[in-house]
Amino acid sequence: MRLVLLGPPGSGKGTQATRLKDKLDIAHISTGDMLRAEIAAGSELGKQARSVMDAGNLVSDEILLGMLESRLAQADVSKGFILDGYPRNVAQANALGELLARIGQPLDAVVQLDVPTELLVERIAGRAKEQGRADDNPESVRQRLQVYNEQTAPVVDFYAGRGTLARVDGVGELDEVEARIHQAIKP
Ligand code: ADP
Repeated sequence: MRLVLLGPPGSGKGTQATRLKDKLDIAHISTGDMLRAEIAAGSELGKQARSVMDAGNLVSDEILLGMLESRLAQADVSKGFILDGYPRNVAQANALGELLARIGQPLDAVVQLDVPTELLVERIAGRAKEQGRADDNPESVRQRLQVYNEQTAPVVDFYAGRGTLARVDGVGELDEVEARIHQAIKP
């Protein structure tokens, strides 16, 4: 199973991706986690990404594509994968399509987690208290939501136009939402 999980910040993408990965025994590829690992390691890439991420903006398409390409070349990906945080704009969606066609691993499904904005803001505020992520401050959150609406929402339309999109209600208990996703991606 090769899957893209789309959804605004705070929609529960990361949580659900972790569950799906365990249940389906596929690789979980979170571009946000990969970037945070680069920052933690103090790499050149991490240094470049840090201020952009803290401000709630998108890291360059070029950096992301390079990162993704090397991740998709790793052995564990052959059993399938769930992409969490990519693609985030239409250029990335096109690049992903080309890359997956080239390696002969097309997507099976694209799932969008639907959550109303008021709830997103509330959830991120809760997470900020628990985890203290540098980009979970109010200004950055506002910017990330705006970036989502301007750049990532068109990706939803991109896949909807290709008939590969499943919309899933992301409001409810974690188990409930997970069950909806399984239902949506059932072959
Ligand atoms: P969230 O879904 O809560 O916004 P992520 O962990 O997915 O959190 O992403 C955190 C940040 O990492 C983003 O705001 C962005 O700066 C950067 N990032 C992650 N994925 C991408 C991507 N595909 N393209 C550009 N930037 C990205």
